[in-house]
Amino acid sequence: MLRQLIPRATAYKQSSKFVAAWASPRFYSIKAESASTAQLQELDASKLTVTKTTTPRELVPPSELVFGRTFTDHMLSIEWTASEGWHAPRITPYQNLSLDPASCVFHYAFECFEGMKAYKDSKGQVRLFRPDKNMERMNKSTSRIALPTFDRASMIDLLSKFAALEERFIPSAKGYSLYLRPTMIGTQRTLGVGPPGSALLYVIASPVGPYYPTGFKAVSLEATDYAVRAWPGGVGDKKLGANYAPCIVPQMEAAKRGFHQNLWLFGEEEYVTEVGTMNMFVALKNKETGQKELVTAPLDGTILEGVTRDSVLSLAREKLIPQGWKISERKYTMPELAEAASEGRLLEAFGSGTAAVVSPVRNISYKGQLVECGLKPGEEAGEIATSMLRWIESRQYGDEEHDWSYVVPN
Ligand SMILES: *Cc1c(COP(=O)(O)O)cnc(C)c1O
Repeated sequence: MLRQLIPRATAYKQSSKFVAAWASPRFYSIKAESASTAQLQELDASKLTVTKTTTPRELVPPSELVFGRTFTDHMLSIEWTASEGWHAPRITPYQNLSLDPASCVFHYAFECFEGMKAYKDSKGQVRLFRPDKNMERMNKSTSRIALPTFDRASMIDLLSKFAALEERFIPSAKGYSLYLRPTMIGTQRTLGVGPPGSALLYVIASPVGPYYPTGFKAVSLEATDYAVRAWPGGVGDKKLGANYAPCIVPQMEAAKRGFHQNLWLFGEEEYVTEVGTMNMFVALKNKETGQKELVTAPLDGTILEGVTRDSVLSLAREKLIPQGWKISERKYTMPELAEAASEGRLLEAFGSGTAAVVSPVRNISYKGQLVECGLKPGEEAGEIATSMLRWIESRQYGDEEHDWSYVVPN
């Protein structure tokens, strides 16, 4: 094996094509097609069977909802095997899974997930927010870990049917929603390290209340350089379960020192990447021109492609550019933020993600100093974060008709 490889590697090195690939940042990206099982496998939503629960749960009063603590009556599941592709989708009562202890998910982390929400509009219709984006991203995650992909439209159809069935769990009030958690795991019973020959795609749902029931609460961050969340060529840009467990100890360390979340830095330059499990935005005033700039890190393989991030960027391009703002997806560093803050040019900072939409940042602990992020004492959110929450919610709840909102047929 080794003997075969060495001459080949030398041949590659000498070919100009190899050098070009090496020099290009794309060298690090693995395409969906590379995964052995990633071919689109037909998923037939019309084969759905529904078995309703005979013991419906009592609804938790909306004011008592805790994120991810209570679940609805049912779950959606679809099995896949390498030999037969996707089996018929099933909605069944919410129940335990029965898996062999040798299932590959438990040993080699064949797991990825999505986070999205169903909302109830003022007419009582159920809506999904940009579900195509979540399904597209899930296919990127699954194919990176040799799990099967699926037809996005069929899956949106199934999610709609599931959300419609669980409609009674979605409170009507603004800020409330039904959090949907599509999950895929490799189920093959084997300790051999290889592509799973079987998988399970399932969706569970949890009714959730507003992230800020009493209004925004700005958070304090700890700039983290001793632990790295994601790196070039890694999988930080995919929603793989394996990315999250290693972030808990650093988060506990930050909490011990009184900070809510980690601000993940990367490299000697101390690039700002993400905050906790959210994308990060900063609003800066240009040193020379005074022009305002909304900045977030570019999708270079170390940044999760947030649906909220994309929504914030597109709303900013639509609404802030006409007001003279510059909108940038570019690398920026912690020293750049510290300098801007010391010169009064750091206007605001916030995280973005499905759970909170936006999460304003008060300050960042960095090398023994506290970098203040533009909020006045007693102020909990800046202008941009406040506007973004309003603009995005108005599209999520259908107050503004927009093609980002997908009305679930009833
Ligand atoms: C899920 C997630 C986000 C936010 O993505 P949304 O689609 O906006 O919810 C950002 N960063 C990380 C690391 C995430 O896991």
